[in-house]
Amino acid sequence: MANSDIKIGILGAGISGLAAAYWLSKDGYDVTVLEKNNYTGGAMISHSEKGFMADLGPNSGLETSPFIRKIVESVGLGNEMIYADSAGNKRYILKNNKLYALTPNPIKFFSSGLLSFKGKLELLKEPFIGKSEDGYYQSISTFVKRRLGSDFLDYIINPFVSGVFAGNPDFLSVKSAFPKLYRLEEEYGGLIKGTIKGSKERKQRNENSKQNAKMFSFRNGMQSFPNSIADKLIKKPLLNCEIKNINYQNNSISVSSELNGKNQDFNFNILISAIPAYNASNLFKTLDDKLAEHLSQIYYPPVMVLFAAFRKKDILKKLDGFGFLIPEKERKQFLGAIWSSVIFTDRCSKDLAAFTLFIGGARQSDIFKTQNDLLINEVLAEFKSLMQIKESPVYLKSFFWEKAIPQYNIGYIEHDKQFEHFENTHPGIILSGNYRGGISVGDCINNSRTVYDKTLKYAGDYFFSL
Ligand SMILES: Cc1cc2nc3c(=O)[nH]c(=O)nc-3n(C[C@H](O)[C@H](O)[C@H](O)COP(=O)(O)OP(=O)(O)OC[C@H]3O[C@@H](n4cnc5c(N)ncnc54)[C@H](O)[C@@H]3O)c2cc1C
Repeated sequence: MANSDIKIGILGAGISGLAAAYWLSKDGYDVTVLEKNNYTGGAMISHSEKGFMADLGPNSGLETSPFIRKIVESVGLGNEMIYADSAGNKRYILKNNKLYALTPNPIKFFSSGLLSFKGKLELLKEPFIGKSEDGYYQSISTFVKRRLGSDFLDYIINPFVSGVFAGNPDFLSVKSAFPKLYRLEEEYGGLIKGTIKGSKERKQRNENSKQNAKMFSFRNGMQSFPNSIADKLIKKPLLNCEIKNINYQNNSISVSSELNGKNQDFNFNILISAIPAYNASNLFKTLDDKLAEHLSQIYYPPVMVLFAAFRKKDILKKLDGFGFLIPEKERKQFLGAIWSSVIFTDRCSKDLAAFTLFIGGARQSDIFKTQNDLLINEVLAEFKSLMQIKESPVYLKSFFWEKAIPQYNIGYIEHDKQFEHFENTHPGIILSGNYRGGISVGDCINNSRTVYDKTLKYAGDYFFSL
């Protein structure tokens, strides 16, 4: 029996599903990817029009492991991969309508005016603060306030969390959403001590921390990546194929779908689910009610992405950074803006500057009660005032994500236990996707290796059972 005799079904042609498909096809398994949309990439949508290239999902990824480059090279995208301009290292935070540069240099940071005098003193106490008793069930807010003080929480962590998760630090679990941060306290007793020791360990493991990892994209946007993986698979993903039902009996898995409007059934030896938790909840209900309940509890807040381009000559603010994030305390209608064409220069023509603004998220999910046109106008007015832009945008593209990014909120640990329990009681089915093991593109790719290892184990068990 050969690997090609083992049939593997992968649900979802987002980066999680496709990266897993890539490793497994390479080993010669018979891999079929089933995708309900008529395109590959899931959340990675790149829109090119009239000389503009707008990423409406992720704008970039962080090269946190060698796996990313490995896939990029082998799908022939090596020459298309681009790294962020060094100007992108500078990030700003808004305070009192002024943008403050966030710098890794501690002396400059302390003298920047972003934190109050009291806030700075609280930071200096961090190495002397002990572990918390709350353990797992701490929000990021509780954790950060205790260790670093409320000023740091309000003006660094609050905007940072909305930049990464579109999340709310009062609800996100520090253990589940930022496990490495939590580990610094658990293992080393403090963040500063842990950061120093942790960087030595990462070097040994040949890993990059997110702070040091290079930021990448592609000339034609992030979607080129999943599209190229899909193109290189021996069996191309089946698009317009929505999975409606899963049957699991004696290690045989059958899947019913609607393929181009017609019913179509598939049989697999191994099934990898790489669809969002809310979709998986419906599908797995017949197999495990409790799993379905846990999946349905994972919150995905709404986010609107607004890509706007202006004439450079109309912008008075100096464009020398990644963009800015807005702390909740500043009470603006949007979460922040990426200066897209500063980071990746070919997002528009040279005389223009393109920006990507984010609206809503877990902090401001109610904002969409306002009519879209009105909201966009209000956000643009605020943005233009902060950036000192005199004229209207020459190009505008908006995209609304009704369910954007899964929140690893307090209690997530119970969900994770249930996922493991389900996999143990249903050998041959693997639950994957960005609601497990990290939400970033890099995390999804790294997790595809975990999925690969689990699949090989099931494949081995399958060989022995014959
Ligand atoms: C607005 C936004 C901005 C982001 N910014 C960044 C960023 O800058 N950097 C970063 O690293 N990450 C960012 N992310 C996160 C990152 O893009 C995602 O976490 C990642 O792309 C998710 O990949 P995935 O494959 O797990 O899920 P998805 O991309 O959601 O793919 C799941 C796929 O499953 C399919 N599917 C669902 N149900 C079914 C069914 N029943 N049958 C068949 N197919 C089904 C869907 O159609 C979809 O294609 C951002 C996300 C969003 C939404």
